[in-house]
Amino acid sequence: MRTSPLTSGSLFMVSAPSGAGKSSLVNGLLKLEPKLKLSISFTTRPPRPGEENGREYHFITPDDFLTRKNRGEFLEFAEVHGNYYGTSKILIQEAMQAGTDILLEIDWQGAQQVKKQFPYVASIFILPPSIEALEERLNKRGQDSQEVITRRILAAGGEMAHAPEFEYVIINQDFELALSELSAIVKATRCRTSQQIVRNATVFSQLGIQITTSF
Ligand code: 5GP
Repeated sequence: MRTSPLTSGSLFMVSAPSGAGKSSLVNGLLKLEPKLKLSISFTTRPPRPGEENGREYHFITPDDFLTRKNRGEFLEFAEVHGNYYGTSKILIQEAMQAGTDILLEIDWQGAQQVKKQFPYVASIFILPPSIEALEERLNKRGQDSQEVITRRILAAGGEMAHAPEFEYVIINQDFELALSELSAIVKATRCRTSQQIVRNATVFSQLGIQITTSF
């Protein structure tokens, strides 16, 4: 599926190593930008304390994941830290065609797959200010076992090596600053000429602006 940028919804994706503060930033962004909808992924990871099926993720069994993958239901999928994660294709297609702005919170492997299908996706990588800060956040979160934390710290270097593949990088040292940067990226993306032409076609036409460039 190669989708033309001429849908009125914008597509965003945010990646980060565990402990960079991505979920807090995304939650803050969703409050600032209520029209932006977070895609709820499917995963084989067990729920953490406090997580609800259908809210943070659709929690499914490895067998169910495999069936859906074989049916071609995922826009992208990847194995991350020993579990499978995937984004529903149909939900994204429908939302974008309806003009909804969608945010994907996915890892770098999924981000590469999405970029191939949606070259105009706005991609953002969130970095911690240091490895020490990352370890401290993971330990403080207290939601994962020590084994899981160690595994995620060891994986962080390999994940961060992919930051240069993204269009934007945010260094999450100061939460409020990082959040304002994330929000600025969303606002700027919505003002891309290709998006404005589709979203505000009547304004362009009333102003007599000829669209000659193809996007
Ligand atoms: P967590 O288990 O901490 O919720 O997520 C672990 C990693 O999986 C994070 O990097 C997160 O962005 C990634 N992830 C979550 N959902 C998806 C998805 O649908 N696809 C891919 N490729 N990665 C995902």
